[in-house]
Order: sequence, then C-alpha cells, then structure tokens
Amino acid sequence: MTNHVINTQTLTLGTNICAMKLNNKFDRYVAVIFFVTITTAILTSYFTLKDVINNHNKQVQSAITPLFSLIASEILRPLNVANFMANNHFIIDYANQEKIEKDYLTSYLEKIANSYNMVAFIALEKHNLMLDSDGRESMLNSDETEWYSRLKELPGEQFTDIGNSEEPHLYFDNKIRNIDGEFIGFTGVAIDLNYFSIKFQEYSDRFGFELFFVDSNNIITLSSNKILESKSHHRQDLMTRLNDLPWHQSLLKNNATDINLSTELIYTTDEGLLISQMPIKELNWRMFIVSPPADRQSEYWEIFIGRFLLFFIVAILFYMMLLYSISYFKSRLIKQAETDHLTQLPNRSHIHWRFNHIVKTNQNLCLVLADIDNFKNINDTYGHLVGDDVLRIIAEQLSQTIRKVDVVGRWGGEEFMMLLPETTAKQAHIIVERIRKNIADISFPISTTGSSFTSTVSFGICELPVKNKTIKDYIESADQALYQAKNNGRNKSVIFTNKTESMAR
Ligand code: GH3
Ligand code: MG
Ligand code: MG
Repeated sequence: MTNHVINTQTLTLGTNICAMKLNNKFDRYVAVIFFVTITTAILTSYFTLKDVINNHNKQVQSAITPLFSLIASEILRPLNVANFMANNHFIIDYANQEKIEKDYLTSYLEKIANSYNMVAFIALEKHNLMLDSDGRESMLNSDETEWYSRLKELPGEQFTDIGNSEEPHLYFDNKIRNIDGEFIGFTGVAIDLNYFSIKFQEYSDRFGFELFFVDSNNIITLSSNKILESKSHHRQDLMTRLNDLPWHQSLLKNNATDINLSTELIYTTDEGLLISQMPIKELNWRMFIVSPPADRQSEYWEIFIGRFLLFFIVAILFYMMLLYSISYFKSRLIKQAETDHLTQLPNRSHIHWRFNHIVKTNQNLCLVLADIDNFKNINDTYGHLVGDDVLRIIAEQLSQTIRKVDVVGRWGGEEFMMLLPETTAKQAHIIVERIRKNIADISFPISTTGSSFTSTVSFGICELPVKNKTIKDYIESADQALYQAKNNGRNKSVIFTNKTESMAR
C-alpha cells in the first residue's frame, strides 16, 4: 500500500491550485468593492462641495437683487419725492405769495401722499406754518417743530430725521429756496418706522442677513433688528449708535485703522460674522449687511447631513457586502481545500483534522481502511475514466449509511478511510459487511460494449481506545487487517486482532 502516497500529493497540489485561484478571485472582489467605496466617497464629497458652493452663490445672488430694490424703493424713492417737491416751481411760487390757502396746499400734499403711500408735509417760513397730508397744522416755533430751526441752520439741502410724533417716522426733509436762492421753508415726506422695520425684517427672515443703516454721525437710522427703536433723532439719550453694537466693536478692535467710510468693504469678525459695508451716497449714510457664518446656515447643514447619511448608508452596505463575501469565500476556500475533487469526500488533511477532534472528545474509536480490489486491472481493462466512475460510485456507497459523527474520506488513490467514534469493532464489522455486499452487487455498465463488470472492496477494521494513540497507530493496525483481507482472497472485511498482527508478520 505505498502508491497512494504519490496520488495524495497530486491531489493536495490540485486543491492548492484551486484555492489559489479562489484567492485571486477573492482579491479581485475586495479590490472592486474598495474601488467602488472610495469612488463613492470622492464623488459624494465632490458633489456635496459643489452643492454647498452653488447654494452659497445662489443665496448671495438671490439676496443682492432684492436688497437693491429694497433700498431703491424704501429709501431712495422718498428721497426723490422730497427732492421733486422742493424743486417744484408751483410750490416755490405759491410759498412766496402773501396769502395762502391752507386747504389748497393740504389737498396737494394729500395727492402726493396717496400716490407714494407716505406722509407729505410742507413748512413755510414766511407764513410760520407747517401742514401735512394728514391735515395736521402747527406753527414753526412750537415744540413739535423744533427740527425746523435745527435743520435750517445746518449746511446742506437734504436731511433725514426721526420725527418725534406718537409713531416715530423717518422724515426726508428738503430745503425750499426761491429763484434768488433764499431759504423759504422745508418740504418732504415721512415714513412710519414700523413700515421699514417690517420690510427689513422680511428681508432678514428670507435671507438670514441683518441690515443696519447708519448716518454720517454713526447713528443707526434704520435696521432690520427690532430692538433698535430710535424715538427721536435729536434726543441723544434715545439714540442707538453703531459703536454700541457688539459686532461693530469687534470690527473696530481688529480693523480700527483701515475702516473707510465711503467705500464698499467686507469684514469678518472674531465670531465669524461676515459684515459688508455699503455707502448710500445720496443720504451720506452707510448700510451694513451682517450675515451669519456659513457653517451656521441651516441649508448647508441639511445638505451636509443628507450627503453624509447617504455616504454612511452606502459605506455600511459595502462593508456588509465585504464581510459577506469574505465569509463566503472563506467557507468556500476551506471546503475546497478539504474536499477531494473527484469523489467530493473529505480529503486526507480533513481526515487528520477530524481525527484530532475525535480523539479529544471521545474514549474509543474504530478506524476502517477500505481498498478497491484489483483496481489497476479495472483501469487497465476499461480505462482511467471508467476507473474514476468506479471510485465515485464506491465513495457514494461508503458514505451512505454513516452517522453525523462518523467520517468517510478518501485517504488516497483507491483507498478510503472511515472514522467511527464510540463504535466497537463488531458493530463496525456489521456496517462494513453491509456496505461490502452492496458494492459487490453493483454492476458497472460499459457504454462502448453494452456489457458490465463488478468490483469489490476489502476492509481492514481496527478498534482502539483513543488515549495516547496517533492516527499512525490506527492506520498500522487497520492496514494489517486489510492485508489479511487481501490475503484471504479479497472482498473481505477483517478485524484487527493480535492474531492478525502475527499473521501479517
Ligand atoms: P489490490 O487489490 O491489491 O489493491 O490491487 P490494486 O490493483 O487495486 O492495487 P494497485 O496498488 O496495484 O493499483 C492501484 C491503482 O489505482 C493504480 C492507480 O493507477 C489507480 N488509481 C489511483 N488513483 C486513481 C484515480 O484517481 N483514478 C483512477 N482511474 N485510478 C487511480
Ligand atoms: Mg491500494
Ligand atoms: Mg487496491
């Protein structure tokens, strides 16, 4: 029984080549999965960044147009109306008359007020009279008209002023001069501060920017922030100054030297606020747009979290696929490495592994060696392919009636091995005899001639307590019994005894 060693080596080599092929396939799978994961990560980051930038640009773009129209309609329009009134020749001429009709003037003011949705007023030096479109009338030396003498003394033609009526208004005052350039009074319009507040608040809510309008004295005239309520422009204690605002203090601290009042500037405060300064030359004002830091803007976070979750789910899916394929290939590899390709029975290395396990968990073991009789003749007579078929069919017969705890494997060549834990030699003999008879009854057809042949198997059985025994001990004994079976004329099963041993010698 020596030739099987060569065959087994061939078999192991075959199994190794197969395992290597499977390993290569596994490597390719892992590489593909990683490649896809990394590509997904890069693409996701790229598109996230693109989206964030696009969104930011879109937000800035979409905020600019409404801001310009807001300034044009809410600040420059009243200024122009006031300017138009002051240069209206009808007004200039009428103001110069010795006698004026108040109703006539009031109806003119009402018309202006209705067309532009503001309060219109006129104050005439010569007549010591102020009239407005709401029908109010006062003298120019009263408390209500303290602004008149104050602004009259100031250089310049146009003024903005917060008026101290019950509901504070922003006044756009224009000096009226006659054709000789002499000062003859004031005219202009006034707008409710709440109205501005609502307009700017709407803008602020929509775009997330705060707006502050500041006059040449650094006093806040208008803002989108409701906490700023200047009740009266000439009452110092009620004014909010630009320097009172925390973001402006921080701006001054860092950029005190280079703040230029007449140009557009963009600053970032320590808190990350973005401050844009825009001069409104017509009024000698400055507008400040205060935007929150980009990382606080909710849209960015939403995009980021959305993409991150997507990436996370994809990564988890890939990871699970990776784990699954690893365990799948592992089990395939192990199975392939331990299975004999021809008979699909456990191979020699698996038998060794099972033997080691059985001796650890059992007291007693019966080992059976089975060897096909005159197999060389079968090969020589019918060819190797037929020989392979015989091997397959006999392997099937051997493994048909065994328990789960038993092992049947191909030991090599035309030799098989059975491991029957906790089985006596006698019990094994009964099983083996049944198998032997079954095999002997099989007729193997020869397709070319239409005839058939039979084949037999000889068995050597040995039962030993597992303690201190190696597989070699078992094989030696079973081999002697098998030798005996061959000597007795083949197609026999022999139990190893001491007598068998002496006969074998
Ligand atoms: P004995 O009854 O004494 O066992 O005689 P035998 O002819 O069976 O024994 P021998 O050792 O002389 O021949 C075994 C033959 O088994 C030789 C070898 O070609 C053949 N063999 C081994 N492995 C395979 C295989 O995988 N397929 C085929 N077809 N033949 C094989
Ligand atoms: Mg043999
Ligand atoms: Mg043989």
